Amino acid sequence: MNNVVPSGIASKDFSIPVIQERGQREVFCGLTGIIWLHRKIHDAFFLIVGSRTCAHLMQSAAGVMIFAEPRFATAIIDERDLAGLADVNDELDRIVERLLQRRSDIRLLFLVGSCPSEVIKLDLSRAAARLSRKFLPSVRVLNYSGSGIETTFTQGEDACLASMAPLLAGAPANEAPSLLIVGTLADVVEDQFQRLFAELGIDKVRFFPPRTSTDLASIGPNTRYLLAQPFLADAARALEERGAVRIAAPFPLGAEGTSLWFKAACDAFGIDSEHVQKVLAAKIARVQLSLAPHRERLAGKTVFFFPDSQLEIPLARFLSRELGMRPVEIGIPFLHRKHLAEELEMLAPDIRIVEGQHVDNQLDRCRVAKPDLVVCGLGLANPLEALGMTTKWSIELVFTPIQGFEQAGDLAGLFSRPLQRRLKLAA
Ligand code: SF4
Repeated sequence: MNNVVPSGIASKDFSIPVIQERGQREVFCGLTGIIWLHRKIHDAFFLIVGSRTCAHLMQSAAGVMIFAEPRFATAIIDERDLAGLADVNDELDRIVERLLQRRSDIRLLFLVGSCPSEVIKLDLSRAAARLSRKFLPSVRVLNYSGSGIETTFTQGEDACLASMAPLLAGAPANEAPSLLIVGTLADVVEDQFQRLFAELGIDKVRFFPPRTSTDLASIGPNTRYLLAQPFLADAARALEERGAVRIAAPFPLGAEGTSLWFKAACDAFGIDSEHVQKVLAAKIARVQLSLAPHRERLAGKTVFFFPDSQLEIPLARFLSRELGMRPVEIGIPFLHRKHLAEELEMLAPDIRIVEGQHVDNQLDRCRVAKPDLVVCGLGLANPLEALGMTTKWSIELVFTPIQGFEQAGDLAGLFSRPLQRRLKLAA
């Protein structure tokens, strides 16, 4: 791992061949994003327009995390023919009305589409526009799709943020440059980042999504945005359509990714590089201490990624470069080559990257590879554990604060703990 602040990426034309695979997929749908989004936007409510299956998914995925009155629910739309659609719209209006009467804290309501055919027939964008007209100015209603036909689980956040982008006010062309951090971060991480940006010399920093739906940044040609998550293709496009310009950077995982992420922002804002180097070097030194025990356990171990969260490339980069692990295969649902360019340049050129999924073929390759650790979705973890493999649920990496310097040790622990547990069980 690097002992100094990395000075940038050496080659911009580096490319790793990517294997494309199509077949049965084993991933959660985009509804899952509601679990972390409803905790982030404190005055939003997510009304899933779906089936009992959707309600069960949300209950089982989020059940243990509900510690207050939940800010999501499912409006169950039963089977009916096209002639019954007018009734569905009336029913939806009644449900929304009842909900808003009961919950005066809601300022932003998302109608979240799902995959049952009855829901696909519904025009949720018209329903959202109709309900917005009725309930504005106190409540705005937006819609996006979390359908499993269209999305993997982190794409739910992408679709949600893309639906919010039109709400950002336009900033005049002569406004001072500002920085927008895009992607859900735990509040504690957001606060750390805000403080560090100030220490580095960037004061005008806003976050998207915001903690309250009315606290929205304005956006224009002087907005530079930095992605905090690698799965935000549609949201990024929507922001660029409003004039914002992306700062290319790796993602803020581990000491190296985090320092390059901050450094990219500082370069874009013309901050003195010696000052940046000095501030970041102290942080990196502390992270190295926190990573050392995990490196001892993980160095030389092999890791196999099944495609799930779209965090796979930055995680593989962190595990290989900072903890000495050897990625055998990195599966990823979609590879956004532009957003991940800086990450891909840091991976070993002989690494196997597989975009898409044919789960049977991938399971065969995993059995042959016999990796020390498998990062996969919940559905695959138990069968793989039964085969004697050690697994890590990829969904945990989205629920847990893992970005930034202070969290790097915890992130390493998420990978070293399952191996420790396996060792103890075998002892
Ligand atoms: S949106 Fe589709 S995939 Fe997701 S829970 Fe509902 S029915 Fe299942």
